Amino acid sequence: MPGGIKLTFHGVRGSTPCAGEQYRRYGGNTSCASLEVDGHDPIIFDMGTGLRPCGEKLAGDGPFHGTVLLTHLHWDHIQGLPFFAPMSQADSLLDVYGPAQEAGPLDAVFGGVMCPPYFPITPDELHGTVRFHGAGTDDFAVNGAKVRSRWVRHTSPTIGFRVDVEGLSVAYVSDHGPGCSDDPDAFVPPDVLELADGVDLLIHDAQHTCDEFESKRHFGHSSVDYAVHVAHEAGAQRLALFHHCPSHSDDQVDLMHLYANALAEHVAGDLEVLAAREGLVVELQHALAR
Ligand SMILES: [Zn+2]
Ligand SMILES: [Zn+2]
Repeated sequence: MPGGIKLTFHGVRGSTPCAGEQYRRYGGNTSCASLEVDGHDPIIFDMGTGLRPCGEKLAGDGPFHGTVLLTHLHWDHIQGLPFFAPMSQADSLLDVYGPAQEAGPLDAVFGGVMCPPYFPITPDELHGTVRFHGAGTDDFAVNGAKVRSRWVRHTSPTIGFRVDVEGLSVAYVSDHGPGCSDDPDAFVPPDVLELADGVDLLIHDAQHTCDEFESKRHFGHSSVDYAVHVAHEAGAQRLALFHHCPSHSDDQVDLMHLYANALAEHVAGDLEVLAAREGLVVELQHALAR
């Protein structure tokens, strides 16, 4: 893909991994997507159980160098790290940018859940090196890409990201919802608008149907309606519905996708909506090359 970027979904489920025939098409692994651009090291969004198949795809003959943009420390976003095959190489290096923690440096807080008796080894005991970097409202460079992180509304400290590289852009706003604040439900925080502003692809939490949202608003997730609303307000080109609820079968996600498409057509004209599924590859090209 000369001049373009390749975004691959490896885990699209929220909250907990799930297995069963009813999840076969979208998949049961939790949050993980990778962004690959010719001439750049890979950038990975979140380290849910989808990081294991991601590692199988990215592993090469030599040491691995790459970056993880970690939204927060809930289980469904961190459990893949010990199973990321490229880190079994001694010279591999993984930089993890995640939300700065009040309780201490990010590496110490992360090490508090990946350690005995919760897990047999710590991040330090992986063969490769993991470097943790606390982030909040920040702009920083990663191997030629411009990365922006901003706080979003969730049940624990959580950030969303935007990556601009080679003139193309992807925003990743998982685990985010209007129910965690006193803001009106239709309000879109300026930080979220900044992340998604005119972006080529917005990957956004779409865990609930509109009907479910009312009783689950305190979970800190979005309805499909709100995901479409954010994409429309920000002028995003494409929206990927993400972080599917484990109680939703493939058929139910299909229905939510159809609903979102109809809604987008009604409120947001040329917005393209897709439903993220494991293995889905989205290739982004410059407008002139489309
Ligand atoms: Zn989650
Ligand atoms: Zn969460």
